[in-house]
Amino acid sequence: MGVTLDLSRAPTVPAAPSKPNLIGLTRAELAQALIDAGVVRPEKARMRATQLWRWIHHYGVTDFSAMSDVAKEMRATLAETFTLARPEIVERQVSRDGTRKWLIRTAPGIEVECVYIPDVGRAGALCVSSQVGCTLNCTFCHTGTQALVRNLTAAEIVAQVQVARDDLEEWPSPKEDRKLTNIVFMGMGEPLYNLDNVAAAIDIIADNEGIAISRRRITVSTSGVVPELTALGERTQAMLAISLHATNDPLRETLVPLNRKYPIAELMAAIRAYPGLSNAKRVTFEYVMLKGVNDSPADARALVQLLKGIPSKINLIPFNPWPGSIHECSDWGTIEAFAAILNRAGFASPIRTPRGRDILAACGQLKSESEKLRASVRRKATASESAS
Ligand code: SAH
Ligand code: SF4
Repeated sequence: MGVTLDLSRAPTVPAAPSKPNLIGLTRAELAQALIDAGVVRPEKARMRATQLWRWIHHYGVTDFSAMSDVAKEMRATLAETFTLARPEIVERQVSRDGTRKWLIRTAPGIEVECVYIPDVGRAGALCVSSQVGCTLNCTFCHTGTQALVRNLTAAEIVAQVQVARDDLEEWPSPKEDRKLTNIVFMGMGEPLYNLDNVAAAIDIIADNEGIAISRRRITVSTSGVVPELTALGERTQAMLAISLHATNDPLRETLVPLNRKYPIAELMAAIRAYPGLSNAKRVTFEYVMLKGVNDSPADARALVQLLKGIPSKINLIPFNPWPGSIHECSDWGTIEAFAAILNRAGFASPIRTPRGRDILAACGQLKSESEKLRASVRRKATASESAS
């Protein structure tokens, strides 16, 4: 039986070890990396790290030679030891509505999508990915059809922000009149299955002397990984978004299979305990509108009951179709009637206008071609390649 493999995505020889990239290191890690490489003496490490930090995250430089206040020799040593290279941009698309989507390759076979949406948040939001693929299989989500390839590193998450900033020509990081004001972890993957790297990336992105996007403008969306919720709040102080989509366990289990592990009652208890929750820091509940599935007036009333007493806002997301999807989007009138019930009960419940649908950049449409090749298949391909 023949096996066809796209070998351009599956290198058969290990890539040469590349130099460590500094963009994914927290301040403390950066100082340590400089010491470990013998580039600075320990007593000078903090000062040097602060200096480099500003060049990397405030000015967005990709070349050590641009660091004009660092001695020439030191710049040369840094360049020999480390890199600041951006990942490769495989594809860039711009929607009719101004949404921009990048397909980024961070390593052989590791491709992720991220999306900039203008006029969202204070000025514009960047939707970043936390994993390549996803282990969860929500029935309405395109990413869910792609097997998990791996977690992204902190550097790969920060790189998405830097690529967007490059494209928006937003260096040095402005304090006012920004195009990019908000970050949402609503791209590919489940961020709470990659909390260490997500938390490190948020530390870097939120640092006031760098990209400086405040934690209150960073939202992490989860399908409901209950045991990690408190840690998320404590470690990141990020805003929380919950992909709810249904108000009873039997229905939620069919849409979000993770509900079998963490049913609604447990999820709601963990949300109520989320650190820092207040009227000023509300939880966002995401609710995808699926025709004939979860969009009746009774569903809306059940939602009101479920969220009683939780400082919350409900984002109604019209379902975005993708090739092969089994659901349909609710009719507009149905969505408006649903929203009206929530509004009357006192909930802010904006209907999220689909953005970038023409370039498959809207919620739940992201998917890269990266596939996890089974080791056995890869070995076979390698063997037949070297035999030919
Ligand atoms: N894994 C995380 C974050 C990524 S998904 C999570 O599930 O929360 C980001 C949001 O897009 C989630 O609320 C998800 O439910 C929603 N979504 C997924 N597929 C969608 C689709 N086809 N149409 C509209 N929203 C979708
Ligand atoms: Fe994964 Fe979120 Fe998509 Fe569910 S909605 S499959 S958790 S990315």
